[in-house]
Amino acid sequence: MSDVSAASPATSVAATSAAVPPMVLAEQVSKSFGSNEVLKSISLSVAKGEVMCLVGPSGSGKSTFLRCINHLEVVNGGRLFVDGELVGYTQKGDTLYELQPKQAAAQRREIGMVFQKFNLFPHMTALENVIEAPIHVKKQPKALAIARGKELLDRVGLTDRMGHYPAHLSGGQQQRVAIARALAMDPKLMLFDEPTSALDPELVGEVLDVMKGLAQSGMTMIVVTHEMGFAREVADSLVFMDGGVVVETGVPREIIANPQHARTKAFLSKVL
Ligand code: ADP
Ligand code: MG
Repeated sequence: MSDVSAASPATSVAATSAAVPPMVLAEQVSKSFGSNEVLKSISLSVAKGEVMCLVGPSGSGKSTFLRCINHLEVVNGGRLFVDGELVGYTQKGDTLYELQPKQAAAQRREIGMVFQKFNLFPHMTALENVIEAPIHVKKQPKALAIARGKELLDRVGLTDRMGHYPAHLSGGQQQRVAIARALAMDPKLMLFDEPTSALDPELVGEVLDVMKGLAQSGMTMIVVTHEMGFAREVADSLVFMDGGVVVETGVPREIIANPQHARTKAFLSKVL
């Protein structure tokens, strides 16, 4: 992970784009809701295969940042790239044009997102939830989608729950279905927004274990979480946000052991 906010924008952009493009690159990204500036010149990059944990107090802009990456919000300033492509816009000369809905949808299909609330379709079984988008959005043949869906449910430890409806699954099982459902679209990037915050404490571990396996398989992930054990053990980088700015970034173990900023210290003292 490289925090480009400290360097001058001109150097950092040149340095980053010369090599393989990072999976995510934010250059001075800002986002406001009315007069409320929620993201204030966020600059960061996430390399391919990197797992970044994004932490910070409630209201600091973490969800908004993920939502901008995933086309659920549009940035007001700066530029955001996923795998070298500008998110939501195409650039001609110095002018940015908004992408057509179809082009934006194509970009978005390559990004998986898992929310605090699992958002499964209640009237569909676990397997039906997982194969829905591959069949209807990706136009995969049903037999292929089923075979792949079973494989994914197997991978998240739900071999014997494929025919169950969400109401008959625990929160941890539902969240694992949600992860399998996101993976079924073969994303190149996975975003997790507090995936374990709605779970009973005894169910948190099974979801984190699945995420750890995914990280070890090489998936690029941005994880908003308060689980500092996960950050320390699994993440390559940690970004601490507060009040819409990146306050501190670095190696999780180092930041957790030795935070440099008073705000990081105050936050960590509450979650550790
Ligand atoms: P976090 O995920 O770090 O808790 P959020 O990104 O959810 O923070 O929110 C940051 C700020 O943006 C909050 O002040 C919140 O009220 C505001 N906000 C988020 N989404 C919207 C929205 N759709 N409309 C207006 N304000 C919003
Ligand atoms: Mg949030």
